[in-house]
Amino acid sequence: MADGPIVIVGASLAGLSAARTIRRADDNVPIVLIGDEPHYPYDRPPLSKGFLAGTTPEEKLRLRAAADPDELGVEWRLGTAAVGLDVAQRTITVKASIAGGSASTDGSASTDGSASFGDSASTKKSASTGNAEAIEFAGLIIATGARPRQLPGSNLQGVHVLRSLDDARALKTALDDGPSRIVVIGAGFIGAEVAATAREAGHDVTIVEAAGAPLARVLDTDAGMAIADLHREHGVDVRLGVGVSALQSDTVLDDPAVSAVALDDGSLIECDIVVVGIGVIPNTDWLEGSGLTIDNGIVCDDTCVAIGSDPEHPVVAAGDVARWDHHRYGQVRVEQWDNGVEQGAYAGTRVLAALNGEPSPDPYGPVPWFWSDQYDRKIQLAGMPGPTTELIHGDIAERKFVQLYLDSDGEAVGVLAWNRPRHAIQARQFLADGATADEIRTALA
Ligand SMILES: Cc1cc2nc3c(=O)[nH]c(=O)nc-3n(C[C@H](O)[C@H](O)[C@H](O)COP(=O)(O)OP(=O)(O)OC[C@H]3O[C@@H](n4cnc5c(N)ncnc54)[C@H](O)[C@@H]3O)c2cc1C
Repeated sequence: MADGPIVIVGASLAGLSAARTIRRADDNVPIVLIGDEPHYPYDRPPLSKGFLAGTTPEEKLRLRAAADPDELGVEWRLGTAAVGLDVAQRTITVKASIAGGSASTDGSASTDGSASFGDSASTKKSASTGNAEAIEFAGLIIATGARPRQLPGSNLQGVHVLRSLDDARALKTALDDGPSRIVVIGAGFIGAEVAATAREAGHDVTIVEAAGAPLARVLDTDAGMAIADLHREHGVDVRLGVGVSALQSDTVLDDPAVSAVALDDGSLIECDIVVVGIGVIPNTDWLEGSGLTIDNGIVCDDTCVAIGSDPEHPVVAAGDVARWDHHRYGQVRVEQWDNGVEQGAYAGTRVLAALNGEPSPDPYGPVPWFWSDQYDRKIQLAGMPGPTTELIHGDIAERKFVQLYLDSDGEAVGVLAWNRPRHAIQARQFLADGATADEIRTALA
């Protein structure tokens, strides 16, 4: 094992999964887990569902592997942002991202009580410059996820995004304040889930989507319009094929609040709250100048090793920030919970193998898996969307159906299941086994 700790940047789903995998395989290797949020790792999917609805309390959000942070045997550096990477010197530079973050030179606790664990490998080897600190690593895992895209006007009061616990707390406080007029911009999964949760809580909700149907990157038009109908039946005003031209405020105060959303077609929707759900940007800014290849994420080989890193001391990426070479789907970046767990675990194994001089594990090539809950519907996707869809079971109008996604050669690449969880599980296994489209049709019909 090389000298120095394995450093993991991003103390959330993928980073935690990596840490747990490494610790299970090796009791002794020092691990430093760096996260710019002040919180121990928590689960994000409930933020748009149960947490926002008030059915999942905040104390239930902590990820299980971090239930007892001491037990993992890592040095926690919460409230600490990585701001630079030097691949040749094998160091990262970190800074406190919050007042009292554990990157402060006294190694003190961050705001929710997290702390560095004693006289650790990294603190011995780190050099402090002002409030920046260099940390050496033997191997590095980057799991910095992604952040929401913003719109001009996002600084207005009442305009929200939803990625972090702090975002969710702010949105929940606003929703709990009483019935509001809410405009959700973007009918992707998060926008659609927030709209459903807010509508069920009795708010007046409008969805604005620039594409002709919701979820156009994932669903075909029929399935997308089934989402639109589902929301309309619940009383949501769904506006499709129209963009936003401005977020307006009718006050000229120091701290103006949003009052309306102006649309490209000239219409104006008056509102109290806006939720912007127009996709995410991978958190790679801090890697600028590092020599790693960055292009819509950290570009990696088929074992998730970043292009441009040192093979003996690899930089491995995992989770929403990683774009890697998947044997079946080509270069992909997957923004899904299941992949965060799996790829994090893989990254841990990959780094350990390199540091121990062992052969690399087999390339990382899972069948991706995603779910979304809206009202009483569970939407699940195994594999990836393809250019062609085929209904193989059920009825789209009843919203209980299974669609097969095919690539340009007619091969199965994914299966979408609405309220058909058993089909979804089977489909994933079929895809993993390399089943043909015909085999899947026959089995799931
Ligand atoms: C509201 C919501 C609902 C979702 N619902 C579903 C769902 O129903 N189904 C599903 O499959 N997926 C869902 N997802 C997606 C899933 O949660 C993500 O795919 C998963 O969180 C990705 O994990 P990650 O560890 O790669 O990134 P993240 O969870 O984003 O974690 C990255 C961490 O790194 C930190 N970080 C960033 N930059 C730095 C830096 N420079 N230094 C230190 N730390 C840094 C970030 O602050 C963050 O804490 C949802 C996501 C959200 C936001």
